[in-house]
Amino acid sequence: MLVRAAEAVATRGARFPGRYIQGPGSIANLGAEAASYGSKAAILLDNGIFDLLVEPVTEACNGKIEALGIRHGGECSESQIAALVEAARKSGADVIIGAGGGKALDTAKAAARDLDLPVIIFPTIAASDAPCSALAVIYNDDGTVAYDTFLPRNPDLVLVDTALITQAPARFLAAGIGDALATFYEADSCRRSGARNCMTMPGISIAHEIARLCRDTIFAHGAQALAECDANTAGPALERVVEANILLSGIGFESGGVAAAHAIHHGLCELEDVHHHLHGEKVAIGVLAGLKLHGLEDEFERVRAFCAKVRLPVRLADIGIADASDEKLAIVARRSCRPGEIIHNEPMPVTEDMVVAALKTLI
Ligand SMILES: [Zn+2]
Repeated sequence: MLVRAAEAVATRGARFPGRYIQGPGSIANLGAEAASYGSKAAILLDNGIFDLLVEPVTEACNGKIEALGIRHGGECSESQIAALVEAARKSGADVIIGAGGGKALDTAKAAARDLDLPVIIFPTIAASDAPCSALAVIYNDDGTVAYDTFLPRNPDLVLVDTALITQAPARFLAAGIGDALATFYEADSCRRSGARNCMTMPGISIAHEIARLCRDTIFAHGAQALAECDANTAGPALERVVEANILLSGIGFESGGVAAAHAIHHGLCELEDVHHHLHGEKVAIGVLAGLKLHGLEDEFERVRAFCAKVRLPVRLADIGIADASDEKLAIVARRSCRPGEIIHNEPMPVTEDMVVAALKTLI
């Protein structure tokens, strides 16, 4: 009973981006917003969409803040981070802006940490919940993952132009829905087990309420948001889902905690087969397998039907695992369940055999 009493009063917390702004055409706010953090911006522009971004971003800064555009090399690697740090230092920049997809954004976050400068994140896709987080995934220059780095604070501002989001293929938005789908189930597992969040403490209640709102939002508006994205229209459903994918899921996972869905994602990534699939697509399979671990058949059926409706995978073959041999499933299960892995944040013990059995229902 003493232990229970201690748990009941455990120190809890949540973390958030400093500010969040979203809307069609909100790129027009970029310069004025950046000017509230500094007088000269070093802007890292995603290599893949540099030509699309450079003019509107420069235009948005015109007359508001001095701006230096820098083309990202493609990887979020130590050498790319160092290059941005040097370019920013040389130019005398006092605020960093990252514009584009995950790797460019993470490079900007890590460089801002090294420079001790404020960072503004301007995502051009809503494919994951990374933009709002105080986390960067560092890759080697050859493209393999090196390590995750935890940053001392979240981005100062995340500014999302939903009109730009609709210019990207809807598959990215669907993948973001897959990542957002995991948030409630993982946070709920952590709430029940008392597991720690990204601040190494249990989440406060708002983290769990945000995670619930995230799930309810994508369930209610996911399919319509994809239709709007197909039509290159930032309609009301797309607005709600972009907010869920980027902000609600971001706060929900960092502050609510992560568990089986992402652990199984990490396991799946051990297989070469899945490498052409997006993070959120693999996470969706992790969510379905996680519901099987819990024996929640009705919820499994509900989520599987939802995944099918929002173009997310429902079978291992859908993420490239056409031949789901016992050997492959054992590799996935071993990585998912290794000691200290986040799957052990679940409220019940999870074994490799349980993971294999869950994955076999998705063949
Ligand atoms: Zn994720």
